[in-house]
Amino acid sequence: MAKYLVTSALPYANGPIHLGHLAGAYLPADIFVRFLRLNGDDVVYICGSDEHGVPITLRAEQEKVSPREIVEKYHKIMYESFKKMRIEFDNFSGTARKDHYELSQKFFMNLYEGGYISKKTEKQYFDEKAGRFLPDRYIEGKCPFCGYEKARGDQCDKCGKLLNPLDLIEPRSVLTGEKPVIKETTHWYLKLQDFEEKLVSWITSNTHWKENVRNFVLGWIKKEGLKERAITRDIDWGVPVPLPEAKGKVLYVWFDAPIGYISSTIEWSKNIGKPDKWKEYWFDKETKIIHFIGKDNIPFHAVIWPAMLMGQKEKYVLPFDIPANEYLTLEGEKFSTSQNWALWVDEYLAEFPADPLRYFLASNAPETKDADFSWKAFQIKNNEELANIYGNFANRVFTFVNKRFNGVVPEAKYEELELNLFKEIEDKIKEIKYAYQNFSVREASKLMMDIARAGNKYFDETKPWSLKDDKRLKTVMNTCLNLLRILAVASYPIIPESAEKLWRMLGEENDIRLERWDSLGKMRIKDGQKLGNVEILFVKYEDEIIEKQLKKLYDKSKAKKEDNKMEYITIEDFKKIDIRVAEVIDVIPLEKSNKLLKIKVKVGEIEKQIVAGIKQFYKPEELVGKKIIILNNLEPAKLMGETSEGMLLAASNDDKSILSVLTVERDVPSGSKVS
Ligand SMILES: [Zn+2]
Repeated sequence: MAKYLVTSALPYANGPIHLGHLAGAYLPADIFVRFLRLNGDDVVYICGSDEHGVPITLRAEQEKVSPREIVEKYHKIMYESFKKMRIEFDNFSGTARKDHYELSQKFFMNLYEGGYISKKTEKQYFDEKAGRFLPDRYIEGKCPFCGYEKARGDQCDKCGKLLNPLDLIEPRSVLTGEKPVIKETTHWYLKLQDFEEKLVSWITSNTHWKENVRNFVLGWIKKEGLKERAITRDIDWGVPVPLPEAKGKVLYVWFDAPIGYISSTIEWSKNIGKPDKWKEYWFDKETKIIHFIGKDNIPFHAVIWPAMLMGQKEKYVLPFDIPANEYLTLEGEKFSTSQNWALWVDEYLAEFPADPLRYFLASNAPETKDADFSWKAFQIKNNEELANIYGNFANRVFTFVNKRFNGVVPEAKYEELELNLFKEIEDKIKEIKYAYQNFSVREASKLMMDIARAGNKYFDETKPWSLKDDKRLKTVMNTCLNLLRILAVASYPIIPESAEKLWRMLGEENDIRLERWDSLGKMRIKDGQKLGNVEILFVKYEDEIIEKQLKKLYDKSKAKKEDNKMEYITIEDFKKIDIRVAEVIDVIPLEKSNKLLKIKVKVGEIEKQIVAGIKQFYKPEELVGKKIIILNNLEPAKLMGETSEGMLLAASNDDKSILSVLTVERDVPSGSKVS
């Protein structure tokens, strides 16, 4: 019996959970934990919501509520989704709780007193109107790389480049819209370089890690180098920095978040009435700590978090393994919450049960490379595997036993065929164990389904419907029921709800979780046991159900795209624009250009010239004498050596094959204002 502490990445408490999250850090962990329990291991499964950081305070400001209200709302929403998906943590805490504050401050002080923290003064934007510093997302401005107007202080959403707030062109405060000033501020940094030797030798020694994880980490260290990293911020939502001179500053969210694994374990210990129990996991070298995360979290869990643990006075156990997963895509495209290209767990659960999705995501897990969720592939997996293989096998066996043996398990006299089959299944059980232990849920799903395949094959070959020998028929049905019994337990980590149903149908009275993996192949269902009521395990999804979901997905994202495209301006913005009626007095084609016309106009008493690209649409004589509409206060510019002192307004179709200069419908004097 081994001792495990399993964690899933703390989900960020500013939105619901989608399928991409589920496939990466939660479902594989839950499957692993369920298997460990069947294997008789000692395991605690820990998670909680990550409740600090700028996206949360910003959202709170937008919704005009407190950050605490935001995190409580999403903590609850996420917890409900997990529960319905049967992701069953021993504890789901949150990082805005007292135990967590105390422990995070202790972590900081230990590092501080150990000399692993330095202090630096740096320049940062400050909003004078709001009277506060503006970390990353509190600043918006023009991207220095692509010119996108709404780039955030930490990243440009258009070109994806990571930014420093000071790089932004024309920065403005998200809070007040004001141009911020630069002020000096003090921050504390974790000296990661102090841990370099220890870290590299530790990572190198972890030869049991997944290759993509180890390579990623070593590559990251090579590329980024181990250098000082800021661990404090100037916002008022977070764990206060426990130094008198750091009043008003909080710990950076990435610093306090992983400490949540420990504080959540402490909370669990208290909840079960054994307040010191957590120490048996975190301070015992025998504990295997397993962090399930997504690929983007690798540097934090394989470098920064272990360094934080190494710098503590207490001897914490370092992570044993970090089975990070690659990404899940949706219908071939990256999940994007800003484009509304996402399938939310709640949305799925409103129309489908948890197990088909659990099975799909497990058998198609992004273990070594990205994987895709598509509705069509989901339909095929559900209909052709869960329903046609697993469900069908159960259905034929129960129908037969109920009809012929009145729902009672018949006794058996196994022959060579059965003994060989049981031997084959025992080998399969060993293979499944290896797959579960090595985080290969894809492989485990396939092997588990092989048991149902073997059952159908045995049923077809023995042809119970044509068996004349009653003894033989009893043996065949008894064997099938035993295969179903094994199938229920073997599939329990992946599809717990269906496995429990099947368990009840078999008339088993003990909790399925009391079964033990190593004796599974040898256990037999009791002769004379009364079977339970037949329930439907899986339903098939018709094309129209699947097409409806696809349409919903595309419609939702289209609506969002159109919504995104519309950039609203205020009436104040519009008032800055001076549009006037101008009378054309002369038009001269520019020789050097096949597009440009030089148009002389009168705006009231003022004469000016405008250069416009309409040569292929209008002959000069068509325009002279017309009253046209111009943008009068456009900054003058030179076009082909000619000054243009405004812009002529015209309407054209998408492919620019038709163009019409705007004129006035009634005769208003030139210089009239358009508003
Ligand atoms: Zn950009």
